[in-house]
Amino acid sequence: MNKFYITTAIDYVNDTIHLGHAFQKIAADVLARYYRITLDKDNVFFLTGTDEYGQKAEKAARLQNITPAELVKKISDSDQKEQDCLNISYDRFIRTTDSDHTETVKEIWKRVQENKDIYSGEYQGSYCEGCEAYYTKEDLVKGKCPVHPTLEIKMIKEQNYFFKWTKYKDFLIEHIKNNPDFIFPKHRANEMLEFAKNIKDIPISRGNFIWGIPVPNDPKQVIYVWFDALINYLTGVEFLENKKLFEKFWPADVHILGKDNLRWHALLWPAMLKSANIALPKTILVNGFLNINGQKISKSVGNVIHPSQWVGKYGTDTVRYYLLRYTNLTDDSDISEEKLLQAYNADLANGLGNLVARVAKLCEKVTLKPSPIPVFSENYKKEIEDFKFNEVLEIIWNEIRILDQQINTAEPWKIKDQKKLTQVLQSTVDGIVCIAYELKPFLPETAEKIEEQFKGPKITSGKSLFPRI
Ligand SMILES: [Zn+2]
Repeated sequence: MNKFYITTAIDYVNDTIHLGHAFQKIAADVLARYYRITLDKDNVFFLTGTDEYGQKAEKAARLQNITPAELVKKISDSDQKEQDCLNISYDRFIRTTDSDHTETVKEIWKRVQENKDIYSGEYQGSYCEGCEAYYTKEDLVKGKCPVHPTLEIKMIKEQNYFFKWTKYKDFLIEHIKNNPDFIFPKHRANEMLEFAKNIKDIPISRGNFIWGIPVPNDPKQVIYVWFDALINYLTGVEFLENKKLFEKFWPADVHILGKDNLRWHALLWPAMLKSANIALPKTILVNGFLNINGQKISKSVGNVIHPSQWVGKYGTDTVRYYLLRYTNLTDDSDISEEKLLQAYNADLANGLGNLVARVAKLCEKVTLKPSPIPVFSENYKKEIEDFKFNEVLEIIWNEIRILDQQINTAEPWKIKDQKKLTQVLQSTVDGIVCIAYELKPFLPETAEKIEEQFKGPKITSGKSLFPRI
């Protein structure tokens, strides 16, 4: 691999993102930062952003007595702030209302049309406004949307443009079967193979609202929000304007997204790309959901926490650490503020912070050589490239424990011989520099502080990295 292009889901602008969304952005950030080290920073592109068109945004704006453009700007800005406070190192924060995105969507529509995959027809069936998605009777659970059991399913009847999804059914099934890395984790691929059997042509335009990208040559219709949103992954690396950049980074290496978005990414998106004669992404990585204190995060439950709320109290790297260490990326995980606090005191204050402070203090009386530049171990690489972030952090914290034990055994505070003392401390500092290097993708600020402090030749005690709370 010589380049790495990663995208996150773009969040819908009905509300500012919460910890559940943040979890995915942090995971993507870990990969982007890791590959910037191993492949060089110019060879990595990291895209995130907001999904801004659709009936939901139009309705929400009307309720607040503002224009849809004002509403989406407000939420998009606040989403971006939430990502910034988590130190998410995106290369572009795309908004689907960006003008280059509009042009890209129109271009893809034209290509799909030229390939004779768009036709006009009448849609009659169920539609969930929460998902902005069409559902068949079989998809519904007791007549309700599987994601929004409290919303009424709308029956809609409209003249629309349809996408010939059925034409790609066999192609999709073959592609999923022949490419074991296409959908991760594996059991999600099996779900999609099941789902693919029931693919029907899908309306890709809507006629009863205006907040969307107009259909080329038929401005009375707007392009269906999913068809528009998926294309952001092409716009992000300048599909239309910068052929060189696009060819360098496309196809995307990883699209990370929540399990509720999987079918669009695993089945609709590849069919659209195939129709437009564009290569398919390599891996669709599906993250699980976070629950807080055993409950789904939702406005109606009243347990929504925005990342900045926890970051304000505990710091960026604490939130990153807790969400990466005590969850499993591809499964649902349960989090709580209490558990975050435990992790903070045990692992960050007592573990990492204490080790760093202790060694810095011991080093004040000696002069050391610069430590060798570390490399990632094979084990580390394997786990991070397999998206097992909790395992990688387990490896690092094990190294912290071992280093602590080594100090206890060597008892450097008792060593009178200066040469012997320097030798013992040199090996301890080399170990710390190695840990800081391994922390870079996960806790970038902390890693930088430690590197700075242990750069040598004179090491001095600094402010506590994680004061006990
Ligand atoms: Zn729904």
